Amino acid sequence: MKLLLVEDEKRMAQALCEILRLEKYEVDWRADGVSGMNAVESGIYDLIVLDVMLPGKSGFEIARQARRLGIKTPILMLTAKSEVDDKVTGLDSGADDYLTKPFMTKELLARLRALGRRVLPSADGSLTFGDISLDTNTVSLRCSTNGQSVRLSEKEYHILEYLIANQGQVLTREQLAVRIWGFESDAEYNNVEVYMSFTRRKLAFVGAKTEIKAIRGIGYELRCGDV
Ligand code: CA
Repeated sequence: MKLLLVEDEKRMAQALCEILRLEKYEVDWRADGVSGMNAVESGIYDLIVLDVMLPGKSGFEIARQARRLGIKTPILMLTAKSEVDDKVTGLDSGADDYLTKPFMTKELLARLRALGRRVLPSADGSLTFGDISLDTNTVSLRCSTNGQSVRLSEKEYHILEYLIANQGQVLTREQLAVRIWGFESDAEYNNVEVYMSFTRRKLAFVGAKTEIKAIRGIGYELRCGDV
């Protein structure tokens, strides 16, 4: 699960990054409101942890702007104890949950798991769409109508995971490139197309009715043949 942390206190941020990575979150860290907003706008994250007091742009502003832009990613807001009204303002601005600093790591992780469950539809953590499901443990794709399954490469898995988590939405090639290869990578859009064709082959291999539809000039969307 890809998580964005926007927090300007360096030591706190570094500690959080370390803890979250141990919990298998893929973490990107931004230390100010403006670069935080840019990262939020990329739309590639499954979860966002947002500090309120940030240089450049506050956590409230970021959450508000994100919701205005139609970004539905769950947001956990970190508020300082002294900022009494922050909880209310935070939730009003579009955050899904809040945590008062200082907090216990255990509590942060529990809240994140709860928010994460909104992203991953089924209780056991498997991702399903139409007649396909992804198994996180075996990194494989399964077709429910005929019981066929196949191992996926890491990138194929991430592509399907991202498409399923954003079902009903068209993902741009840019979003896919950044999500799969990261901001710093110089992955070309061609890479996305190449991996899309690999992934489609896997879908065909298991005989899935679910397919990756290319939306000309925009990107890709998951569709199920039955629908
Ligand atoms: Ca701060």
